[in-house]
Amino acid sequence: MPEKGDRLKTLLHVCCGPCASSCIPRLREEGIDGITLLFANSNIDTREEFEKRKAAAEVLAKAEGVKIETLEYDHGDWLEKVAKGFENEPEKGRRCERCFRYNLAKAAEYAARNGFDAYTTSLTVSPHKVTGMIFAAASAAAPFLEMDFKKKEGFKKSVGRAAELGLYRQAYCGCEFSKAESERRSGK
Ligand code: SF4
Repeated sequence: MPEKGDRLKTLLHVCCGPCASSCIPRLREEGIDGITLLFANSNIDTREEFEKRKAAAEVLAKAEGVKIETLEYDHGDWLEKVAKGFENEPEKGRRCERCFRYNLAKAAEYAARNGFDAYTTSLTVSPHKVTGMIFAAASAAAPFLEMDFKKKEGFKKSVGRAAELGLYRQAYCGCEFSKAESERRSGK
């Protein structure tokens, strides 16, 4: 595993702009620079929603002076390889585990292909996600940097920074199943 504190050329998989907003300063605090963002989220339910979240991540990249790359959106592939047979799983369940594995594999492959020293993910910011499950889902195709971005008030800081930048903040995790769950919870 790469050491924090090395000046690593690091790829940050960005689940969304708001979550990533506290990860960039946190990586810099750790002495990790050379950050590039990767928006690789075929888990998102519609192209329209994908584009909205991507635009927010681009605003963040510009504000932080970092590059951002995007992988092609293919929700059909995600439904087939991740969700099929796991549609009724609750959040934090097996569908999410498979989803992390899918997105992190794409990020790891991208990192390996493009000469990054390491990759990590903004997914650990969310209090709705289990950090250990995310770490366990990381692909070994490239060195994974185990950053628990919830620590040091990461989520609270992300809410503040996202508001400062006026970033679009979604009301559900990403897939149609999480949207339905969130609507049920809020009584819609
Ligand atoms: S709830 Fe979120 S993490 Fe879980 S499968 Fe859906 S998009 Fe992926």
